[in-house]
Amino acid sequence: SLQLPRPRHRRVITVANQKGGVGKTTSTVNLAAALALHGLRVLVIDLDPQGNASTALGVEHRSGTPSVYEVLIGELSLADAAAVSSQSDKLYCVPATIDLAGAEIELVSMVARESRLKEALSSEALDEIQPDYVFIDCPPSLGLLTVNAMVAAKEVLIPIQCEYYALEGLGQLLRNIELVQAHLNPTLSVSTILLTMYDGRTKLADQVTSEVRGHFGDTVLRTVIPRSVKVSEAPGYGQTVLAYDPGSRGAMSYLDAAREIAEYGAEKGTE
Ligand code: ADP
Ligand code: MG
Repeated sequence: SLQLPRPRHRRVITVANQKGGVGKTTSTVNLAAALALHGLRVLVIDLDPQGNASTALGVEHRSGTPSVYEVLIGELSLADAAAVSSQSDKLYCVPATIDLAGAEIELVSMVARESRLKEALSSEALDEIQPDYVFIDCPPSLGLLTVNAMVAAKEVLIPIQCEYYALEGLGQLLRNIELVQAHLNPTLSVSTILLTMYDGRTKLADQVTSEVRGHFGDTVLRTVIPRSVKVSEAPGYGQTVLAYDPGSRGAMSYLDAAREIAEYGAEKGTE
């Protein structure tokens, strides 16, 4: 397989959009799997109590499983909560269980409540895993969990669904990112926008695509993820689409998107 450049420094990428169903989880797990397929070491942190990323990576996430919840409340290190995915020995996941649902409220009264994930990431806790990439899959809200993800990362990846109202709510997301930049994490930037669920048969999809490109320019990946049944079927088998149907258009497009992300990082020497 074609090699992808290894980043000079570990890249921590938060996948965020407070809208549900835009492809955050699907993009997280498939980009992670694509990078792992090319020999890079990748850690996915599932920060959504639904645990959909854990499911797609074939990682146990029943209540009581060591998870990101215990990491956030300071009971476990990230490495101790991480499990290797069923699909690659280079791909790890810190699962989310339903226990995380209460965390947003529990965190409010905790010390350094916005930077608990950052602390967990900055320790030697990852010496065993040594990931080149860390992806953080956010819940569909802008609450404390998403703030923790934005404080822990240098990059934000925003998936945008090629649909009606695609840009609705984006202003709010960008303002929140600016607030985090101003007060908590000056190094944060929106590095990547990924258009998802593109349906070439509709005029609307093209309108959304050109509107987003007009607005965000080069931040938008050239690769667009098509709407594809295979992509939506894969999690039902505890798999990414790369494992479920490697030759499918969905799998190929995520491989292309991962290549763009890796090459962009190499170009910019992203830390
Ligand atoms: P989010 O994490 O933003 O809530 P998901 O990644 O869970 O969004 O995607 C929402 C739904 O859309 C899921 O059922 C998923 O399987 C489906 N989906 C995501 N991407 C695609 C795609 N490219 N083609 C078809 N279905 C998709
Ligand atoms: Mg999700």
